Amino acid sequence: MSGRPPAVVVFGATGAQGGSVAKALLSDGSFHVRAVTRNPRKRAARELARLGAEVVKADLERPESLRVALGGASAIFLVTDYWELGDKEREVAQGKTVGDLAKKLGVRHVVFSGLEDVSRLTGGRLQVSHFDGKGEVERHLRHIGLPATCLRMASYFENFIEHFRPQPEGGGRGGYRLGECEIPMADIPMDGMSVEDLGPVVVTILKNRSEYVGKDIGLSAERLTVQQYAEVLSRQLNRSVRAAEISPEEYEKLAFPGAQDLANMFRFYRTRPERDLNVTRRLNPAVLGFEEWLSRNLHHFADL
Ligand code: NAP
Repeated sequence: MSGRPPAVVVFGATGAQGGSVAKALLSDGSFHVRAVTRNPRKRAARELARLGAEVVKADLERPESLRVALGGASAIFLVTDYWELGDKEREVAQGKTVGDLAKKLGVRHVVFSGLEDVSRLTGGRLQVSHFDGKGEVERHLRHIGLPATCLRMASYFENFIEHFRPQPEGGGRGGYRLGECEIPMADIPMDGMSVEDLGPVVVTILKNRSEYVGKDIGLSAERLTVQQYAEVLSRQLNRSVRAAEISPEEYEKLAFPGAQDLANMFRFYRTRPERDLNVTRRLNPAVLGFEEWLSRNLHHFADL
C-alpha cells in the first residue's frame, strides 16, 4: 500500500462552500486536496495552491475535462452553482454528470451539497428552482447506488453582509431596516449558519465515511426569527435595526430576477424543513451561532 493520502476532489474550491471545504481539508492534513476551478490563475486558486492544494482546471459544463480532475480520486465534495446558471436543467445535468462519472470511476464517497426538491415535496405547489434541481441530483445519486452523503445547507449568515444587509431608513438618522430584500418569515424562525463552518463538517463526514454514507443531513448553527436577527444586529452593530415586515406575496413582486423563486423558498422555510442543530454541532463542535459570527465579522459593516 502506498503512503499517499487519499485524494479528495473539491468542486467550487474558489467559492464560498468549496473554499471552506478545501481550506478545512488542507488544515486537517489527512487528505490530498485537488481543488477544481475553471481558472487556476485566479487569486483564490493561487491561494489554495500556496496552502498545499493541487489546483486542476475543469468545467462542470465540459464532461471531458472532468475525467482528468476525477482520476484516482477517493472522494468528492460537489457543489453546483445555480445562480451562475439561472437554469435548473443545467444544474441538474452538472450534478448528474459528476455522479455518473464518480460511479464509473469507483469513487468511494461523494459529499453533495444538495437541497430539497420542494416542487416534488409540495406536489408542484411551490417551485424553487435552486432547490428543486439539487433535490433531483440527490435522487439520482441514490438511484445509481453511489456512496453519497447529501448535505442541506442553511441560509448563510454571510447573506447579512449583502442580500439581507441592514438598510438606512430616513436618510440613516431613523435607524436601519433589515434587508433590501427582506426576509418574509413573520415570526417563524429561520435556520442560519456561516458557510465558513461547512468545511469542518465535511472533514468529519469524510473521515467517518461508513457512519455518513447514505445520509441526508440538514445543517444549521442557529434558528432565529427575523426579530431576533434584528436584535442581535442592533446589539452588535450598536445601531437600531428593525425587522421589516413583508409577506411572501409582497416579496414575489419585488423587481429583481429570482424574486418568485426566493419567495417560494421562504414559503418552504416557513414549513420548517429539517435542519439539525445537534448533528451540525457534532459534525463541527466549533460551529458559530449568529451573535458570535457577527462579532467576528463587524468589519463588513464598518460603513453602516
Ligand atoms: P460561489 O461562492 O459563488 O462560488 C461558485 C463556485 O462554483 C466557484 O468556485 C466556481 O469556480 C464554481 N463553478 C461555477 N460554475 C462552474 C463550472 N461550470 N465548472 C466548475 N466550477 C464552477 O458559490 P457558493 O455559495 O459556494 O455555492 C453556490 C450554491 O450554494 C448555489 O447553488 C446555492 O443555491 C447554494 N446555497 C446557497 C445558500 C446561501 O445562503 N447563499 C444556502 C444553501 C445553498 P470557478 O469560477 O473558479 O471556476
